Amino acid sequence: MNATQSPVDHALFQAVENYRARNPRSAALLAEAETALPGGNTRSVLFHGPFPLSMARGAGCRVWDADGHEYIDALGEFTAGLYGHSHPVIMGAIQEALAGGINLSSHTAREGLLAHEIQRRFPSMELMRFANSGTEANLLALAAAQAHTGRSKVVVFDEAYHGGVLTFAGGGSPMNVPHAFLVARYNDADSVRALVAAHGANIAAILVEPMLGAGGCIPGEPAFLQALRDLADDCGALLVFDEVMTSRLSFGGRQALLSIRPDLTTAGKYLGGGMSFGVFGGRREVMERFDPRRPDALAHAGTFNNNVLTMAAGHAGLAQVLTAEVVQALNARGEHLRARFNAVLERHGVDMAFTGTGSLMTLHATAAPVHSPADLQGTDGRAKDLVFFGLLEEGVFMARRGLIALSLPVGDAECDAMVAALEAVVARHRNVLPARA
Ligand code: PMP
Repeated sequence: MNATQSPVDHALFQAVENYRARNPRSAALLAEAETALPGGNTRSVLFHGPFPLSMARGAGCRVWDADGHEYIDALGEFTAGLYGHSHPVIMGAIQEALAGGINLSSHTAREGLLAHEIQRRFPSMELMRFANSGTEANLLALAAAQAHTGRSKVVVFDEAYHGGVLTFAGGGSPMNVPHAFLVARYNDADSVRALVAAHGANIAAILVEPMLGAGGCIPGEPAFLQALRDLADDCGALLVFDEVMTSRLSFGGRQALLSIRPDLTTAGKYLGGGMSFGVFGGRREVMERFDPRRPDALAHAGTFNNNVLTMAAGHAGLAQVLTAEVVQALNARGEHLRARFNAVLERHGVDMAFTGTGSLMTLHATAAPVHSPADLQGTDGRAKDLVFFGLLEEGVFMARRGLIALSLPVGDAECDAMVAALEAVVARHRNVLPARA
């Protein structure tokens, strides 16, 4: 051990060295890409030091990296991979669509079919429009809210993530679109009340994730989200639920679990069957402005808004696979798994825990209750890194930031294997991981 290194730094140094030694092909692929892509990367969230894994293929709930290691895919493409890598219904729908020709330059029967399946789940989406990503859906929802209200300001939340140009982690980003954002605190209705009192007449929208996703799987408290509904009504703003992550938490998303009807909803991810997708929709009088037959129609173009592969895969998945029972079982599995993970951490006296709900969870370096991002300040990222690299060695692939999003092919055997993997990692490192008080 280096004389200046603390035990946790030393353990992490070792873990990273092992990772380097195990993954030369991933390192080489990054080096090859970096002459054309900055840092070899075209999707910031995937990057981490010393270099991210390069995956070569996937099947079911497993992935194989470029050096040939096999992993249980616990990340599920940050929730978009809900069906796994090779669901026969999704594959069949894509093959059938491919056989009929792609890029048809026209309306097809497919977009209406997918829209009806989405509407069946989220009745608050009385009318909807499609886009290519969750980011785009949020941009368009905000534009629609501004057009509808004739107002400009947008209430958002500290540490929220609505896309690469709508990110409020760490005080916001220079990449953000230049809206007049008013930043409130998550799970703190008073902070919103104050903004509404000061700016109510100019607020077009309150944009909120019903659970902070990238911000750490922190569920919005029901009373907080209901207060947002009431405050939006009071000041005439639109309440926009970003359900890009949370729509999978029940058949009708988190809004159904809470019995709160937002004015607009945005979603995407798995709803496109694993192909790129975004959707925004809501109250008829807001969305009907997009009817091109109207003289005052709002234009919303997009070459790939109704691309046949997304339409086919999205519709087949929703119509044939993702029944209410299947959604419920997936989320029950997640609840059970999170409890088992947390029992392992508690038994070893480690001050870490997974927060989240249903099939979504994030590991934190604190076992104290997490109501807001402020509760995570000062927690030790090194502890999470140690678990991350340790789980990789045990054959479990999660996000470096600690996110796990279950996919349908994850079964009892995989859950048992993941719990055993966490047990092994925690047992190995318990002396350097933070201890409970
Ligand atoms: N909103 C939320 C809540 C998200 O989690 C994400 C993606 N992680 C987005 C929006 C952006 O979606 P996309 O990556 O498809 O643009």
